[in-house]
Amino acid sequence: MFHRSLHGLPRHGQRKGERPSVRDPYRARHDDSDASGSCTERETSIKETELAIVGAGPAGLAAAVEASRLGIHTTLLGEGTEPGGQLLKQTHKFFGMRQHYAGVRGIDIPKKLLDSVDASHVQVRTETSVLGLGGGGMLGISSGQECSTLKAETIILATGAIENAIAFPGWTLPGVMGAGALQTMINQWRVAPGRRCLIVGSGNVGLIVGYQLLQAGLQVAAVLEAAPCIGGYAVHAEKLLRYGVPIMTSSTIQEVLGTDHAERATAIRLDNHGSPISGSEMEFAVDVICLAVGLRPLSELAMIAGCEHEYEAALGGFVPIHAQDMETTMRHIFVAGDVSGVEEASVALEEGRLAALGVASSLRKKADVGITARKREAQRRLSALRSGPAGKSRREAKERLWRRRVQCRVADSQ
Ligand SMILES: Cc1cc2nc3c(=O)[nH]c(=O)nc-3n(C[C@H](O)[C@H](O)[C@H](O)COP(=O)(O)OP(=O)(O)OC[C@H]3O[C@@H](n4cnc5c(N)ncnc54)[C@H](O)[C@@H]3O)c2cc1C
Repeated sequence: MFHRSLHGLPRHGQRKGERPSVRDPYRARHDDSDASGSCTERETSIKETELAIVGAGPAGLAAAVEASRLGIHTTLLGEGTEPGGQLLKQTHKFFGMRQHYAGVRGIDIPKKLLDSVDASHVQVRTETSVLGLGGGGMLGISSGQECSTLKAETIILATGAIENAIAFPGWTLPGVMGAGALQTMINQWRVAPGRRCLIVGSGNVGLIVGYQLLQAGLQVAAVLEAAPCIGGYAVHAEKLLRYGVPIMTSSTIQEVLGTDHAERATAIRLDNHGSPISGSEMEFAVDVICLAVGLRPLSELAMIAGCEHEYEAALGGFVPIHAQDMETTMRHIFVAGDVSGVEEASVALEEGRLAALGVASSLRKKADVGITARKREAQRRLSALRSGPAGKSRREAKERLWRRRVQCRVADSQ
């Protein structure tokens, strides 16, 4: 297990050499040796931290970098075998601004972020899942065979997004899988999922995965797109078109056939109303069907914590309502990255920084000119990322969430 520790660092509110001891209510109530539950109740020590970050993708990592810069005692919890989230699957070079690692391959970004983390302030715990959030900043954690609790003064949820699926006859056959699973197989495990693939969905994810499948030596029969135009950036579409991969708009998957695994798939054309045009079926001999039909924010932990949500189609579905500094409707619980609306790694990085700055303001409880200035810089860069026609609907959705946060009653999570 990858483990960066901060041995010897006194916890928040604790004097050097003092062991924090927090009563575990469950143990106190169920300890058979003292059924009366009187003053001999056992006390168990629960680990404490000023900030718990859940999820070690770009949002969580950027939050950890900023928090460590501000001297906040931080625990970064990620369920992957190493930190990086979606970036660990991105073999292509990113574009955009220098602050967002333009020109660097996605897989190389996590190391750069980790190198900027001040290890004396941040403990990184991998293969660690947060199963639930309780009152008083309690996190229920599972790591290997062990379950434990962590008490955090503040929490940043940076759990990312989960893939959408669509159902059609044959969709449960082996060989039909999400784009994320395919990327994990080819880019992380180096396992070929099959020989010939049909991709459903021409957003950036479908287009990029299509190109990565070609690089991995598979054939890509076609990309199907239900909308009348290609969903992703032209630069990604052109790479596939140069290799002769047809991108068929106004088309979708109808059926997958095979005995014990996918052997062929049927596609069908759609009319202007999105209805299948009978007689337009096309058959493909493929053993892999890649579903790249969108992502939705993975915000179950925020729901468990009681954060209010709002449906925003442009951000992928139900998202936790949050302020401009990323605080949710529960005080001391912040969100960052795809969990607060599915966008891009560059946005996740900025939101992670912003959330850590929000945490600093909430811990220090007084205005700090330096923090305010850094917040403004991050917000300026976020506005630039959401400028132009491509970012318009996301920008408007975020502005609605910020306004809703002002109207909401903010509850205490502690
Ligand atoms: C094919 C593809 C190509 C892309 N290309 C680009 C690109 O070129 N440029 C760009 O800017 N963006 C790109 N993106 C988007 C980018 O990868 C995401 O927007 C970004 O990774 C979101 O960051 P995040 O930190 O919010 O979430 P993630 O990267 O998804 O990280 C979240 C992490 O949290 C962990 N987690 C979730 N729940 C728990 C829990 N309960 N306990 C512990 N850990 C948990 C997850 O396992 C994951 O590791 C691409 C995405 C895909 C799929």
